[in-house]
Amino acid sequence: MDFTISAEHQQLRTTLREFFEAEAPIDEVARFDRDEEFNSELYRKAAGLGLCGMGFGEEYGGSDADQISICIAVEEVARASAALAYAWLPTATFCAKGIARFGTDEQKKEILPKVADGTVRIAMGLSEPEAGSDLTHLSTRAVRDGDDFVINGQKVFTTGADTADYIFAFVRTDPDASASKGLSVLLIPKGTEGVTVQPLRKLAGQATHTCEVFLHDVRVPKENLVGELGRGSSIIFGLMDAERIYVGAEGTGLGQGALDMALKYARERVQFGKPIIEHQAVAHMLADMAMDVQTSRLITWQAAWKLEQGLDCTMEASMAKVHGSEAGTRCAGRGMQILGGYSYMVEYGMERYWRETKLYEIAGGTNQIMRNMIAKQLGRRGL
Ligand SMILES: Cc1cc2nc3c(=O)[nH]c(=O)nc-3n(C[C@H](O)[C@H](O)[C@H](O)COP(=O)(O)OP(=O)(O)OC[C@H]3O[C@@H](n4cnc5c(N)ncnc54)[C@H](O)[C@@H]3O)c2cc1C
Repeated sequence: MDFTISAEHQQLRTTLREFFEAEAPIDEVARFDRDEEFNSELYRKAAGLGLCGMGFGEEYGGSDADQISICIAVEEVARASAALAYAWLPTATFCAKGIARFGTDEQKKEILPKVADGTVRIAMGLSEPEAGSDLTHLSTRAVRDGDDFVINGQKVFTTGADTADYIFAFVRTDPDASASKGLSVLLIPKGTEGVTVQPLRKLAGQATHTCEVFLHDVRVPKENLVGELGRGSSIIFGLMDAERIYVGAEGTGLGQGALDMALKYARERVQFGKPIIEHQAVAHMLADMAMDVQTSRLITWQAAWKLEQGLDCTMEASMAKVHGSEAGTRCAGRGMQILGGYSYMVEYGMERYWRETKLYEIAGGTNQIMRNMIAKQLGRRGL
């Protein structure tokens, strides 16, 4: 067993860290969130570094990046801006990956090179008002009509739907079949008649809007079906382990950002005649943050390694998701305490982490559902 990080992985982290420190400073990220304005220039520049092609192969402009590289990239994006993470991850690591694995040659040739160069973004339309954790209740219906599908229903929390070029929509194509046989995925292009997108006000990452999507007699050609008819749930299950690992990496990256910020502050801030890092209560908070970041990274990378090897990693991915997201929340909370009153001030950036981190405990499968899955796996195979 070798825990040494490779030179390539280290270089990737350094490149991304320097890029985001230059291109996404705290005040710029805060401004875009305050104005609720998507930063498409930053997105395209990030794509220029190869970020958007990490989910698929070179033949479509991607990079066949290994899972540890993707985790490092996710950490660095989450450290820089949740809004960027909310636009990038569904596009590159879920929807584009889904097209690469399950889509037709035409879909791959048409869409993936544009995802890789940052000109196309895709929103993930899974959640519905009555179907959050319980996806068996998805009710958005698609009916075949000649060469088209006609879609009626509603999605909620579809992040980036208002600016995305496609919605990767999970729809029910057979109302009588079980969820494992009755769901399919259809690509709904931007501007399709009958689609109404309504951004919702939210707590964090506001520069990428999270939206309600109303679908009324929306007609898309049959060529927009991704994967086999009725096999949408295999797409969910085929991509979810990776998604959960990446949410763990988001929590890790945010925790690292909070730790770096708190450490710098604790070295500089003097109270009672010495830097506050020399007060044991503060030093212990920093030590706890460091342990949280370290354990999250290890558990996330272990799951990523298993995924890379093609091994069953459902339990490890769920653990990575829970541990990484909760570690991120603990780190942001301790960071707030260490910065004292200044933590409340937008220009310091800690309050942004504090607001952003909660989502990672909820999205991608709530941490309660993840614990259910861990317990189920434990029952089957122990640890
Ligand atoms: C900012 C934001 C962005 C999002 N982006 C997207 C997106 O781009 N695309 C998309 O499809 N979705 C997105 N989501 C939706 C997200 O994935 C869901 O919020 C999540 O799956 C939980 O569903 P829910 O909110 O309906 O909660 P519910 O499923 O209603 O759960 C409510 C509570 O009950 C608990 N609970 C439910 N069932 C069980 C159970 N069996 N055992 C134990 N506890 C249970 C949950 O853990 C939770 O605490 C986003 C959400 C947010 C907030």
